[in-house]
Formats: sequence, structure tokens, C-alpha cells
Amino acid sequence: MPTRIVPARFLLPRFMLPLLLAAGCWLGNPHCEARQPLAVAADFEGGSVSGVEIDQAERSIRFMPGGDPARGWPCWWYFRVDGVAPGETITLRLRGSTATLPRESAAQTGSPLHKPLAASWAMPQQATWSLDGQTWRRSEPGRREDEWMIYSLRPEGESVFVAWGPPYTPSSAERFVREIARSSPSATATELCRSRGDRPVPMLHVREGSRTAKDRFGVWVQARQHAWESGSSWVAQGFAEWLLSDDADAAWLRQHAELFVIPIMDVDNAATGNGGKDAQPHDHNRDWSGEPHWNETKAAQRMVGQLIDEGRMDVFLDLHNPAPGDPTFFYILPPEYLEPPMVELRDRFMQLAYARISRIKPLIPMSNKPKVTGPGYHPLWRQISANWVSMNGNPHTVSLCLETIWNYQNSTTDGYRAVGGSLAAAVREYLADRPLRTGGEQ
Ligand SMILES: [Zn+2]
Repeated sequence: MPTRIVPARFLLPRFMLPLLLAAGCWLGNPHCEARQPLAVAADFEGGSVSGVEIDQAERSIRFMPGGDPARGWPCWWYFRVDGVAPGETITLRLRGSTATLPRESAAQTGSPLHKPLAASWAMPQQATWSLDGQTWRRSEPGRREDEWMIYSLRPEGESVFVAWGPPYTPSSAERFVREIARSSPSATATELCRSRGDRPVPMLHVREGSRTAKDRFGVWVQARQHAWESGSSWVAQGFAEWLLSDDADAAWLRQHAELFVIPIMDVDNAATGNGGKDAQPHDHNRDWSGEPHWNETKAAQRMVGQLIDEGRMDVFLDLHNPAPGDPTFFYILPPEYLEPPMVELRDRFMQLAYARISRIKPLIPMSNKPKVTGPGYHPLWRQISANWVSMNGNPHTVSLCLETIWNYQNSTTDGYRAVGGSLAAAVREYLADRPLRTGGEQ
């Protein structure tokens, strides 16, 4: 009789096999057959990744940011990892993009991409992740190893979204604007324009009560002229949330001003996961010339121009995220390019905003020293939006760029929204001291 080989599993009580397999998976056994292979997907709005290599045994993913360098700095990354065994530890190994542009085309926009972008732009101290694409958390701090930044995650789900920072897509903007307008009779969900890629550019228009338009302060808030700076859209959202809140100061602002909030200007690059900054022929924030290239700039310039014509371009705010090591700060034009009373009014507004933002808990680090965007900053400095509005605005126009820190533990959706709320409260405090146009009721 031939020897019968008893499969090992028959030597164990049957109920133990799944327990052993589960224990093996839990302990990170690289040979565990019960685990699904990890897979990476970025075929969704705002998705961006390249150079993906997955080590199934190590449960680690090597990758770089995606994005076409002709459409902006390749520092944004956002993708989904599938096949995760809930509770297992996966490792993300990020390195800087190697994408470059030919020297001549890089020189056209002043882009640094004739060589690879410094990796630090793509490397937050902590990665951002979410199980549902709605609630965004920050990972434990990553560790730098040569050219790599290494993050460990232990998601309690089979799929996990991971990103440079909390994503904010054109669909997020459209949904936010629609839903907040539905909850408030003084807000209207509208569109600034359609992009060159034929996407709608959602805009919130706010005014309350019967005061006529010409008797209202004009306030313009726009974010994401640089598509990778997703945090700035959360700041814009926080601005709108405070504005439409029950706060008595917010009601005053709605009643005495007409406000426009655009959470994403460059919807095309935000939708396609491109960086936007230094996009060709030049990016949105170098497009404020006599002949704008981008539809969003054209439309914004026309509407802001109308507010200027009516003498009520009171506060213009352009929202960004800065360099990796920067705190929150304002960018301004050097005072020699401005006439009084603009400098005094602008300084007053910055003081009010600083006082509020620097008091946010948990802390959002802010510098009270603005940086300047004059001729030494960029050859197209006159075509930067806040500069253009300063130089073409009313004598009393306050026009500023706010850069909100992104590489910090509190640079979360809540932290960004708190900055937006503080900024809106500062607009109210500033305008409350300005002469009312009608001399009517306060
Ligand atoms: Zn920017």
C-alpha cells in the first residue's frame, strides 16, 4: 500500500486553521496567502502618482508625485491603496519627482524644472490619509532615508486614500457651494466661468438684506491659483462657513458687504492632479495682465474691475500655501509702489488678521512680517493678482496674498478652516471701522 501523505492541515483541528492564518497575517507574515495584493489607483478626480513599485512581501509602495511638468510643479500626490488587510501596517516610500522640462521651455515661465524640483515641496512631515475620502487625518511623522521619505500607516479598512495634504477637488468646491447656499437665503451658488477645459468654476455669492449693491463693501476671496496648494481651498471654505454662521459679526458682514468666494480658480489642474505653479504659458497668478490667457483670470479680472469702477473694491484676498519651511504670512507689494491711504489700510488689516490667526488653538504658526512680491520676486510681478489689484484698484483697496502654513501638524482641514474663519472675522472688524457708503443704519 502506498504511503499516504496526510496534508498538514488534517493534523490540526479544523477550526484552528483560519485562526492560524489570521494570526500569521496579523503578525505581518510575508508569506501569508490570505492577504490580497496591494494595488494603487489614481484614476479619479485630482489623482496623481507615478513611478509606482509595490513590494507585496514588505507591503510597501514606492512612488513619486505624478503630473505633467508643463502643467506645473510636480509636487502633488493623491492616490488610493487597495488590498489592505484592515489593521496591517503598510509603508509608503515617497521620493521627489524626476520630471523635468527642456531648458528653453522652463526658462519661458521662470520655472525651476530644467532640473527636478526640490523633493521637499512634495514631502510633508506627515502624510494625509482617509478611509472614506471625506475625513482626512495625518499620519505619524515620516522618516527621511536618503532620497526617500517613509510613512507608515495602519488603516482599519481595505482601501485607503493617501495624499500630500487634504485634497479639495472641483467636485468638493461644487458640492460645498451648493450645500451652503441651500442652507442660507443670503448665499447663492453660481459659477465664475467655465475653464478652458470646459469645467465649471464654482463661486459663492453672498449678500443679505435690501441694501443696494453700490452701497455695499466689495470683498473678493479666491484660492488655488496654484492647483497643488489644496490647503488654500480649505481656508476659503472656512471663510465662507464663518460668513454664513450665526455669529452676529458675520450677519453684519453679510448685510453691509457683497462677497464673492471662489474655492478653486485653476479647476483644470486641480481636476487632473497637475501642480499648476509655473504651468505654461504662465500660471494663473502670473496672468493678471491686459490680456489674460486663462478664463478664470479673465472672468475674475472683469468682475473685480467692475467693483473697482464702482469704487468698492474694498478687500481682495488671494489664498495660497507657501514653501515647505514657511509659517503663515502675507505677501505684499513694496510700499513704494502704493499711494496713501492704501499702505496704512493694508497694514491695519494685516494687524487684525494676524491678531486673530495667531490666537487659533491648536496653533497655526504665523509671522507678523509680510514678504514682498516686487520686481525682485519675479519678472512678471506686475501680473500677480494681488499686485494687479493693488496697482489698478481704488485708493482704499486692501489687496493681499495670504500663504497658510502646510507643513505643520495642525495644517489639517480644521486648522485651515479656522484660518479662513479668522480671516473673515478680520474682514468684518476692518470694514466696521470704514465709512459706510450710505451713512445709513449701522
Ligand atoms: Zn501659490
